[in-house]
Amino acid sequence: THFGFSDVRLDDKQGLVDDVFHKVASRYDLMNDLMSGGLHRAWKSAMVTAIGLPKGPRAFKLLDVAGGTGDIAFRALKHGGQGVAVTVFDINGAMLDVGRERAREKKLGDRVEFVQGNAEELPFASGSFDAVTIAFGIRNVPRIPAALKEMRRALKPGGRALVLEFSKVDVPVLDRVYDAFSFNVIPRIGQMVAGDAQPYQYLVESIRRFPDAETFADMMREAGFEQVTATPLTGGVAALHVGFRI
Ligand code: SAM
Repeated sequence: THFGFSDVRLDDKQGLVDDVFHKVASRYDLMNDLMSGGLHRAWKSAMVTAIGLPKGPRAFKLLDVAGGTGDIAFRALKHGGQGVAVTVFDINGAMLDVGRERAREKKLGDRVEFVQGNAEELPFASGSFDAVTIAFGIRNVPRIPAALKEMRRALKPGGRALVLEFSKVDVPVLDRVYDAFSFNVIPRIGQMVAGDAQPYQYLVESIRRFPDAETFADMMREAGFEQVTATPLTGGVAALHVGFRI
């Protein structure tokens, strides 16, 4: 099957991405569980652990870019101490609305805020945050180098950026199984749960087009990050990248 998303221009790409997440916002977290077999929980927990959140009362400001429904933010608030505050930043108002409602239910008060905007132009002063995260979001941004530079700019010197994203499976046999699963099963789950396969065809294609871990590490260095490391998760189905603003 040819999905036809590969030829879209950069400016059209953002429109497609916005449609996808608008359609799935209310079922987004359920879809994540179904499609990753719950693995996204382990991957996110690896990222949240690597942020280096203080356990005590020390103030710590985290920016979660493409934070969607707030999943990373809620995990970070649970994992860290009382001084942790998170800004969830996303281009999509429908995803942020789901997150705001959740934050209200969890009675998180002013420890979490939701801000709408584009990762390519962050509306924050330079040096505002102790850490910046982006989970399964960088793949969706049309101009990745611009977003990486902005993430670096928003960090305090010494702060770290963490990027969690699908990667390239480098284990024989698992790569074939994974390909078959993603092309056949994921769009079908999308059809069943969200009533639409097309957003998930986009998802599968965008994962395939995303660079392998070493190439992405170089993109982070190119954006000015130092001490960049890449850690494959689940045989390379996902990878965690960490880089510092020195
Ligand atoms: N980080 C969340 C998580 O892991 O559950 C959500 C990930 S979701 C797969 C991708 C998110 O990226 C969507 O909420 C989408 O709206 C957001 N996004 C896409 N393009 C963006 C952009 N240019 N700037 C900011 N957010 C963007």
